[in-house]
Amino acid sequence: MKVMKFGGTSVGKPERMHQVAQLITKDNEAKIVVLSALSGTTNTLVAISDSLATGKRENAKQKIDELEAHYRNFVKELVVTEAARAKANAVVTEHFEFLNIILKISFSEALNKDILAQGELMSTKMFSVYLEEKEIDHMLLPALEFMSIDANEEPNLSAISQKLSALLQQNAAKKLFITQGYICKNARGEVDNLKRGGSDYTASLVAAAIHASVCEIWTDIDGMHNNDPRVVDKTVPIDVLSFDEAAELAYFGAKILHPTCIWPAQQTNVPVKLLNTMQPEAKGTTIQENVSEEGPKAVAAKDGIIAINIKSSRMLLAYGFLRKVFEVFEKYKTPIDMITTSEVAVSVTIDSDAHLAEIIKELEPFGTVELDKDQTIVSIVGNELTHTADAIKKVFDALAPVPVRMVSYGGSKHNISILIPASYKKQTLQLLNKGVFGL
Ligand code: ASP
Ligand code: MG
Repeated sequence: MKVMKFGGTSVGKPERMHQVAQLITKDNEAKIVVLSALSGTTNTLVAISDSLATGKRENAKQKIDELEAHYRNFVKELVVTEAARAKANAVVTEHFEFLNIILKISFSEALNKDILAQGELMSTKMFSVYLEEKEIDHMLLPALEFMSIDANEEPNLSAISQKLSALLQQNAAKKLFITQGYICKNARGEVDNLKRGGSDYTASLVAAAIHASVCEIWTDIDGMHNNDPRVVDKTVPIDVLSFDEAAELAYFGAKILHPTCIWPAQQTNVPVKLLNTMQPEAKGTTIQENVSEEGPKAVAAKDGIIAINIKSSRMLLAYGFLRKVFEVFEKYKTPIDMITTSEVAVSVTIDSDAHLAEIIKELEPFGTVELDKDQTIVSIVGNELTHTADAIKKVFDALAPVPVRMVSYGGSKHNISILIPASYKKQTLQLLNKGVFGL
């Protein structure tokens, strides 16, 4: 059995949905198809929710009406028969009735999550109506019946696996299942989600839960590229990446994949393929356990980084200093991305300023604390970088004109990370493209 996930742009137009139907019926392997909301929908739902949270009901109502008009038009082109149009319109009516009802009730976090869930619920149901019109045998599998997160907001793979296997067993005769990405139930039994872009995560969790033969992520680009196509002119798709490399790239900024979505596939060794709906024959990128090729494969950048430097002569020859520093970040649940140390100072980077003031206040008794905001982490990712003789030379030769603030090398075999002022990002990515990849 395989998993195929289609993102927002892959289902964002009626003709794209038609194309998805073709792609999922190309072979006879049983499959679970995970769909995102139509492109733009989740953003609009977020805006509706924000309007409601700030008491701007008129504003929310206007957005709901505009969104509904979009869906009504979509239905017209999605299906042609009277019966199918009536069914698809009934789906739209049901969900917009809900959105109109919430205009009248008081806003809460639980309600916010309900609002955000509407996009995936509608896209899957509408797609199901289309498949029915085309007489493609399938079954809609409600994600809320098997996808769940625990009290720490983490998905529990074995719980998901148990529920999903039971559902599949009950419907053993079916070969095609359609389900929602992104949405889930939380530990309180309420509707929740796997955070923005979480449909990839759904796909990977489903693939892991059923030990799928492959987890295909269909998007609008022909795989993971060696550099950011929005910043540099020439980029090339990468054929094969290891799970570790892909995880680093996704975490450090490659937008094509949700950063947390690698671990479930990795844990169960299900290969992940990144494919292009607009160009289905393109090879794409395969992410798997082992790769043979050595050397740098890609560069990714993560913006909005804050560097914190703590300098103290008390750190000299002392032990336990770092623990005290890290405990502060732990207390405020703020993950650290990069670390460098010298005998008397330590620099760390974080990507959230949510608790910055408190963190600084608690670090100050340890020494002098300095902050650099507006920084960017640039990660050069590849296989066995530490064993590739000239990898680090190429990187630093290329970066000669850039004021590098921090360097992290040796922490993993497949990553060299540098911290630079955000204003140097474009130049850095271009220089690396030329110096490291010869592009
Ligand atoms: N629809 C959700 C979002 O836009 C989830 C996803 O598409 O991955 O964030
Ligand atoms: Mg996405």
